[in-house]
Amino acid sequence: MNEVVVCGAGGFIGGHLVADLLREGGARVRAVDVKPIDEWFQVFGEADNRVADLSELDACREAVEGADSVFNLAADMGGMGFIEANKARCMLSVLINTHLLLAAHEHGVERYFFASSACVYAADKQTSTDVLPLKEADAYPAMPEDGYGWEKLFSERMCRHFSEDFGLPTRVARYHNVYGPNGTYDGGREKAPAAICRKVIEAKLSGRPEIEIWGDGEQTRSFMFVDDCVYGTRMLMGSEVTEPLNVGSAHLVTINELVSIVEEIAGLTLRRRYKLDAPQGVRGRNSDNTLIKERLGWEPRISLEEGLEKTYAWMYEEMAPASARMGQAVSSGAGV
Ligand code: NAD
Repeated sequence: MNEVVVCGAGGFIGGHLVADLLREGGARVRAVDVKPIDEWFQVFGEADNRVADLSELDACREAVEGADSVFNLAADMGGMGFIEANKARCMLSVLINTHLLLAAHEHGVERYFFASSACVYAADKQTSTDVLPLKEADAYPAMPEDGYGWEKLFSERMCRHFSEDFGLPTRVARYHNVYGPNGTYDGGREKAPAAICRKVIEAKLSGRPEIEIWGDGEQTRSFMFVDDCVYGTRMLMGSEVTEPLNVGSAHLVTINELVSIVEEIAGLTLRRRYKLDAPQGVRGRNSDNTLIKERLGWEPRISLEEGLEKTYAWMYEEMAPASARMGQAVSSGAGV
């Protein structure tokens, strides 16, 4: 039976990938993350769950020993607010990928996957809201997102050279804005879809019909539901495509449109307050999926409306009981 290691398994995409591998069966799954297990978004008893700091070479050696394939989804990252304020921390994720590659090579791993990002794309190709979708070649000449994007681009190349020089087969996906249930929605690392769902739910639960939006809301992005991301990741891992591929949605929306979709799901219309000095990232970004369609026949299957509905429903279940408990505490005067 194949032994598959998922690094960053306590995180958002890693948790969904472990679920999918277990659902399919046919492989033993080793799930590794630096967080204590009670902080993982999803924990599966059928997996071999381990806590380890994969920025350490010895921890990587232990994590990949005996493995046939390794998925590296571990990184110290977050949404725009986090990556703009934590460039050094984001770049330190280079230790995780580098040590995992070294360990994978030493242990004769048959295939290695690295989760890269649309943040590798050159900033000057993303300056307007009606951007041309980014194709893989647009990453060069390089001028990626400072900090986080540079680490991703460097690590992509590290994968390429481990493959060319040391014969370790690597696969690289450039994810574009992934969202869905069982991910971060508060605490400062959350990304736009989760932050907007949370703010709309807070407005609903508190009865205060307003929302703060970062920037003027006209910045554009495309968003991919996590199930599509997992399906694209697994197709790419199983393929013979060795160059980085976009794995994202090509459906471009403004942040204002994203808010309107979530308002509709919640059955609310909110007063919008724009925080113009908040971190916003590039003005516009979209994924050109020509190459992945051509090479893998992959396209996202889940619409933004359907994906947001699932995300909103999960987050509401998470937030409503906490809000009710808080209400009870306030009305009984306990702990406030
Ligand atoms: P996440 O933050 O939910 O998961 C990352 C996990 O890595 C976390 O659980 C974290 O504890 C773990 N980790 C961090 N440092 C570690 C270490 N030293 N050792 C072991 N584990 C460590 O993020 P995610 O959204 O699931 O993203 C997964 C991967 O995909 C990351 O590489 C991320 O950069 C990339 N990516 C994500 C998106 C997105 O929209 N979510 C977009 C582009 C790229």
